[in-house]
Amino acid sequence: MKLKKSRYNILIDELPRGEKLIYNSFNGSFCKMNKEAQAKYHNVQKKEEFNIDECDDSDIIMMLEQGFLIEEDIDELALLKVRRYDAKFDNNVLSLTIAPTLNCNMDCPYCIEDKKDLVINDITKNNILKFVKERIDYLKHLSITWYGGEPLLQKKTIKELSNKLIKLCGEKEVTYSADIITNGVLLDKETAMTLKNDCKVNMAQITIDGLKETHNKRRHLKNNGDSFEIIINNIDKIKDFLSINIRVNIDKNNVIEGKNLIDFFINKKGWKDKNINFYFAPVHDISEVCTSHASTCYTFQEFAEINKELLLIQYKMLPVGSFNINIPKPVSLPCGAVRKNNYLIDPRGDLFKCWNQIGMRQYSVGNVNDKVRFNNEHNSWLLSEYGDKCIKCKNLPICQGGCPYNKRLNNGDSVCQHTMVNYKEIIKEFYYEMTKGNVRIG
Ligand code: SF4
Ligand code: SF4
Repeated sequence: MKLKKSRYNILIDELPRGEKLIYNSFNGSFCKMNKEAQAKYHNVQKKEEFNIDECDDSDIIMMLEQGFLIEEDIDELALLKVRRYDAKFDNNVLSLTIAPTLNCNMDCPYCIEDKKDLVINDITKNNILKFVKERIDYLKHLSITWYGGEPLLQKKTIKELSNKLIKLCGEKEVTYSADIITNGVLLDKETAMTLKNDCKVNMAQITIDGLKETHNKRRHLKNNGDSFEIIINNIDKIKDFLSINIRVNIDKNNVIEGKNLIDFFINKKGWKDKNINFYFAPVHDISEVCTSHASTCYTFQEFAEINKELLLIQYKMLPVGSFNINIPKPVSLPCGAVRKNNYLIDPRGDLFKCWNQIGMRQYSVGNVNDKVRFNNEHNSWLLSEYGDKCIKCKNLPICQGGCPYNKRLNNGDSVCQHTMVNYKEIIKEFYYEMTKGNVRIG
């Protein structure tokens, strides 16, 4: 056979002594190639015949194993497409995001959800069970995300449905997992215990948008009351038994508080163990229901730089060796919206594909009280393909063309998310710290 270089090899940096840091996005592998290995890397392609079984060169073997070199007749783009189709129509896993209410106890100005005073009823609850039962024989795993509105306004429903779904999975030897996206106000110790022990919820995502004053301005209770102290106290009481993922939404109004917030989390609260993680996310400026905040939002390009600065600040505040910089890993799909076995269910039982559309009936793809409809809306998600510029992009294996919803709103042109904009610079910056043992690269 003949060998060739992978089309997804990406040069991260050239070191002073001529070594090269190379990342392969198809496999998520990362290496430092010295000059000798580079020569082999270039020369091996010129050989008319290469016998892999007789090769005893450890450099070449490593390059083959990690996908920097591949057999000449392999088409990696075609393989990516196959990977994508496989994941789209995989029947083994059913993922449901259930919103038992669209109502909320907060009134955040940037929220795009239409907070209808809707609550799930018994018929819809039963039909969610029926929906799962109809599919359970070909399932290996059921994954539930509790969502809203604020899902903990309906604790009883979460407990009741969880119990029934867990029992059903147990009977059919289907594994079960759950998480919750909540504003954290109602997540007291007792509730968190119930979620963990009775509902198999293993992670809660909570949003904190700044220190007390800023957070309360952006994420205040409906009666304008302080939500910050309640959420912080709740996290303190539950973080030892429930994983917490804190999301910080950043726009031009709160960006200056990012650094202080990191200091608050790490130094004041001592939140630095594995069970509690925080990350920054841009407030989106693309939304068909709300453009009134667009002037305060960052573009993904702008936000990528901000995120890098915040990562550096975070790293410097953590104990030596405890910071983990994750090398991007290949993904099969951009998100669950394009997976067949993936639905969001609103309190009326309406089914949706994308998180940004929950509750908007014009985008519904059926109803659990009736049937799944393969209408134009549904098919457009399942048939969504790579944008033209993505076909040539070396980030395609780790991005899969970006958020399809953003692409739709951007007249069919893919939108490169902030995580794709400067990850090479981030790996480069942190590589030197890794060699000193200050940072782990995953
Ligand atoms: S399409 Fe975009 S907004 Fe919708 S669920 Fe996927 S990533 Fe989220
Ligand atoms: S969305 Fe951007 S980063 Fe992602 S594959 Fe397409 S061109 Fe590349």
